[in-house]
Amino acid sequence: MKPAPGGKVIAIDGPSASGKSTVARSVARSLGYCYVDTGAMYRALAWHCLQLGVDTRSESAVMAACRHWKTRLHRLEGDPDEVVLLVEGYRPTAELRTAEVAKAASDVAVVAGVRRWMQQVQRDCARFGSLVMEGRDIGTAVFPETDFKFWLDASSEERARRRGAQGVVDNLAYRDHQDSQRKATPLMPGLGAVRVDTTAQSIEQVVTSIVTRVSGEPQVKAAGPD
Ligand code: C5P
Repeated sequence: MKPAPGGKVIAIDGPSASGKSTVARSVARSLGYCYVDTGAMYRALAWHCLQLGVDTRSESAVMAACRHWKTRLHRLEGDPDEVVLLVEGYRPTAELRTAEVAKAASDVAVVAGVRRWMQQVQRDCARFGSLVMEGRDIGTAVFPETDFKFWLDASSEERARRRGAQGVVDNLAYRDHQDSQRKATPLMPGLGAVRVDTTAQSIEQVVTSIVTRVSGEPQVKAAGPD
């Protein structure tokens, strides 16, 4: 699906702790686009499965949960606006940030049928207008036709430092390995993606360079804190 007429999609992909969430939110804020965190969508599905007692590694069980899910995309007003996936009308937030849910999210994300279902849901976000969508496969599978693809990365030392600083209770090594080795749309840059090394750059520098490329002119609005 193409974005709504006149709508643009900015795809921001990369591994965890590459800086993509903070950057994607700030770019969305600067341009007045909707922000979409696709990792939160995989986490919402994983949380939903855990609630139902569904085995997150079983393709048929997870797909059955997907089929029965009354998917509700919802536009949350904020700075920036955000498109979120509701679980039976509820928006889980803190529940999604546990180590158990992070691992289960990576497990459901391996399943090819689940990825196809999720990618369709994510394409449907385009009906809300221009988007900044962050994830692992936005430039390769969700919106491969967009003109604006960015691949964020940082040195492994810097990513480790940021993870420590974020106090992440998470099995990141497990997820990094599984995300990049899976058969269905593994973690990799999309064709023509602009690679941005965030190791030694500030958030503001990265945001300005992305906004400049997208709009063709420098934006003065500074990146605010998340
Ligand atoms: O970005 P976040 O850490 O919240 O993502 C949780 C998990 O969801 C990732 O480890 C990855 O397995 C999966 N994911 C994915 N494709 C995306 C976004 C997230 O496979 N576009």
